[in-house]
Amino acid sequence: MLQVHELTKRYAIANFKQTALDQLSLSFRDKEFVCILGPSGSGKTTLLNMIGGLDRYDDGDLLIDGKSTQHFTDADWDSYRNHAIGFIFQSYNLITHTSVLANVEIGMTLSGLSAEKRRQRALEVLEQVGLKDHVYKKPNQLSGGQMQRVAIARALANDPEIILADEPTGAIDSETSKHIMTLIQEISKDKLVIMVTHDQAIAERYASRIVSLKDGRVINDTHPYERDATKHAGLKFKKTSMAFVQALKLSFNNLKTKKFRTLITAFAGSIGIIGVALVLALANGLNEEILQLERSTLAEFPLQIDPLPINIEAARSGPPRPQFAETEREEFPTIPFIFPFERQAAQTQHVNLIRDEFIDHLDALDPALYYQITVVRSVNMNLLTRLEDESIIQVDTRRINFEPTLNNDEFFEDNYDLLFGQAPQNDQELLLVVDRFNQLNVTVLSALGFSSSVESLPFEQFIGREFSVVFPDQFFRFDEDLNRFFPVGNLETLFTHEEAVRLTISGIARPREGSASTLLSSGLKFHPDLETRYLEEASASLIGQLQAQSNVSMITGLPLTESARTNLLRSLGVDATPSQIRIYPVSFEAKTAIRNHLDDFNENLPEAQRIIYTDLAALITELTGDVITGISLVLIAFSAISLVVSSIMIGIITYVSVLERTKEIGILRSLGARKKDISRVFNAETSLIGFVAGALGVSIAFVLTFPINRLINSRVEQLDRLAVLPLWAFLALIAISIVLTYISGLIPAGIAARKNPVEALRTE
Ligand code: ADP
Ligand code: MG
Repeated sequence: MLQVHELTKRYAIANFKQTALDQLSLSFRDKEFVCILGPSGSGKTTLLNMIGGLDRYDDGDLLIDGKSTQHFTDADWDSYRNHAIGFIFQSYNLITHTSVLANVEIGMTLSGLSAEKRRQRALEVLEQVGLKDHVYKKPNQLSGGQMQRVAIARALANDPEIILADEPTGAIDSETSKHIMTLIQEISKDKLVIMVTHDQAIAERYASRIVSLKDGRVINDTHPYERDATKHAGLKFKKTSMAFVQALKLSFNNLKTKKFRTLITAFAGSIGIIGVALVLALANGLNEEILQLERSTLAEFPLQIDPLPINIEAARSGPPRPQFAETEREEFPTIPFIFPFERQAAQTQHVNLIRDEFIDHLDALDPALYYQITVVRSVNMNLLTRLEDESIIQVDTRRINFEPTLNNDEFFEDNYDLLFGQAPQNDQELLLVVDRFNQLNVTVLSALGFSSSVESLPFEQFIGREFSVVFPDQFFRFDEDLNRFFPVGNLETLFTHEEAVRLTISGIARPREGSASTLLSSGLKFHPDLETRYLEEASASLIGQLQAQSNVSMITGLPLTESARTNLLRSLGVDATPSQIRIYPVSFEAKTAIRNHLDDFNENLPEAQRIIYTDLAALITELTGDVITGISLVLIAFSAISLVVSSIMIGIITYVSVLERTKEIGILRSLGARKKDISRVFNAETSLIGFVAGALGVSIAFVLTFPINRLINSRVEQLDRLAVLPLWAFLALIAISIVLTYISGLIPAGIAARKNPVEALRTE
């Protein structure tokens, strides 16, 4: 079945070629015990390696069942070694870190036998070689003869047709040798056994045929055989391959033998993981905390609708630059003229035009969702007051924050402490709001006619103060000749006019500790009914009606631009369009519902008619979240450096492992392992280290979060559980660790796979 035809093998040493086999031809019977006899260096081992497919010949051919092997692929050779050949080496070549049983099973693993069958067969051959009682020992717990028996059992395991033995008794004492030789002789009864020896006595005693070699040639053959060249048989071996699980097992066993090193390596590899994990934990906790803040404290921040909504994208790209109307004029002109121009909003900026449809839409909002909706209009009421010296002055309402007070009593009581009196109950009562230090801005004070140069002012001074709101028809006098309105100069008459509304301050309020400070600015507040009444009067007034039809100011007689006219109509109270709306939601969930309601309004509306609201709380959260993400990325990048370093280190350690396990590589190859299987063994090893490193890293990080949280908590009391590692991070970091170490081991694993099996076997 086996025939060597004019086989030649040369080794290149420096610049001269050593011919190890010189056109050697030899045929073997299917069953015989052939001893290859010859002095050292005659080419015996080389011949055996050629026959066993461990090394490639240079010329000639090896015929298996009459089939040439000249065009064998790597896979063909692997499969041939695994299924047809059993090797027995002089130095046993056992894998020292696994049990006797596992050593015998490995070859069968490569041929894809089930675990149960493997075990059964291994025990069978181990019994056959007389080692039934030693199956769970490690090879180094056995004697030389016992180790060689393990090797024989391994060679027999896959039931190959050819057993190749290279000086199997070379390292064993003569008494034990006899037993080994008898065993091999027994095997040769139904197999082809080719044994290399330099011991003529052994050859003559046990072999059925002795082939003598010298200088790579046959010089004598005691029992030659001429093969019938016409006899051909099909040759089919199953492909070999090692399951990844098997590779993992092998590597796990190997790592177990160097626990300390593995642990140190994994720890070094875990440092980067710890860093990344802690950053993720902190970022996650912070984001959670801010979300919590938005849900609780910030929930009462209003949704704002302003004439010009905050454009967060524009704000991020730098401070707003003044926007001017498009102009085609020349810069720095030399002519003596001045050109009128109107400042306009940037074209890209959205302008909220609050129309009646929107007010209707807002009215449809479920009142249970909000505490309060404040609507600010730019109506400039005519407010007069009588000072202590009995003189009357007009109050500039724009300087005293003259706005409607909150119309939700409960909301008001939740957020304000009444220092005196009560909140306005009707359109004749006013509320004075001071800040949390009982302060009032001097601008407000002087606009109200109070002295701002004193240390303090008693409440009674404010309570006794009288005010009067004068409607436009009484406040303005029409001059028909000039077609203009003039303010009535006599404030005393106006103040006491029977059509005027007489008001008094009914209460003084201060924001309650912890309340949202955006509710009411300090100054004078009126009951919402007053504004309603004023707007009605203003629309019906003569100045209101005339101004509504004119492009010229009815007060100054000067022409008006479109926006100036709108502003005038609003300040007169003719145009009641709100300029600003604030919606105070009752909860975070309510806010979401309100947002949805507002979004509904915009649906199907052209861009320009949409109402863009600002959710300040969400903006704060979002911006802070962005900052946290940015910082985390930088920190992760730093930690990633240590990941890179540890990856390189693991690559080096894997390379050391490859060097250490070179012999094992040779053994696996002689048993039919593919190159791929070898790299798989090392990839399995790095994956294992990666897993341990990752698991160790996240575990250490998890443990560290406790003292870190305690530390943060001791500094900032509100933050009680800041560093929280999310589950996804746990799993992702372990996966990343495995992938990184896997990648770092690829090169050494590749080096291992490319090792020449013969040379690998020869290393000690
Ligand atoms: P034997 O097993 O009969 O002692 P070998 O087959 O090992 O002889 O060697 C045959 C010849 O080939 C020897 O001269 C040896 O030096 C040479 N040889 C064997 N292997 C190598 C190798 N890997 N590189 C170079 N020369 C080698
Ligand atoms: Mg030799």
